[in-house]
Amino acid sequence: MEIAEQFSDHLDVSADEVEERLESLVSEYRVPVDEARRSVVNSYLDEAGIERDELGGGGAGGNEQTLLNDIDEDEQWVDVRAKVVELWEPRSEAIAQVGLLGDESGRMKFVSFTTSELPELEEGVSYALGNVVTDEYQGNFSVKLNRTTSIAELDEEIEVGDDSTTVEGALVDMQSGSGLIKRCPKEDCTRVLQNGRCSEHGNVEGEFDLRIKAVVDDGTEVHEVIFNREMTEAQTGIELDEAKQMAMDALDTTIVEEEMRGDLVGFYYRVTGPTLGRYVLANEVERLSEPADAEELLIKARSM
Ligand SMILES: [Zn+2]
Repeated sequence: MEIAEQFSDHLDVSADEVEERLESLVSEYRVPVDEARRSVVNSYLDEAGIERDELGGGGAGGNEQTLLNDIDEDEQWVDVRAKVVELWEPRSEAIAQVGLLGDESGRMKFVSFTTSELPELEEGVSYALGNVVTDEYQGNFSVKLNRTTSIAELDEEIEVGDDSTTVEGALVDMQSGSGLIKRCPKEDCTRVLQNGRCSEHGNVEGEFDLRIKAVVDDGTEVHEVIFNREMTEAQTGIELDEAKQMAMDALDTTIVEEEMRGDLVGFYYRVTGPTLGRYVLANEVERLSEPADAEELLIKARSM
């Protein structure tokens, strides 16, 4: 009995009791069923001293199934099917869990509160979450799990879409800070050192890494693209150990950047990845052609 469920957090109401009250209204007083339901709910609301919207949208799981990316209103009761992409460290004891949910439309922050006493969600697991409430803060939406939220683990895995973009064009330049770099070794810092200094932690013993900050021109605008170590190694064929050796032999780390420049600049690429600020973080990189060569193109054009 749905009504009893709705009130289970607030009152000691049994399904039998609800049924009895409904039954008596309908058969003894000839009240239409819908009205009888409303009347019973209202009387329980009075008894519990709560407002209707505190009950949630008609019981767990009775709402519209919503894609995360379609959430654009505050305080809506919705059902979502999503995967727990990341769990973060809660910053307050009032918060039981906080992290990122993802579905095919994108990602969204979620919070569950200690007082709701919900079962813990596991990272990487997909769930049907019934009766979650949307929340808006400075234009950013999130969902809040609450005492009425139903949690059911799904057998299937939800594919998480990212808000990634694809850039296709000529790699026309590499910015400084490309090639063999050193990062701050302090926990969670990873800032790139300038002359052995971290802007936050001062002089530190850096850790070597490879990175490319590339400028890709798609013909209408330029995009700044970052290749991480993995992408840099794959596209240049120069691995970290080799790069360190090159720098050691030359007593100069910039030799690595110069070498990589020759491998990359002038080639066409298709790069896909999430955006972070003004950068596209390359998750997939495909080299599309040999170096752009005006003469070659001209010959081709004439032959067509
Ligand atoms: Zn640092």
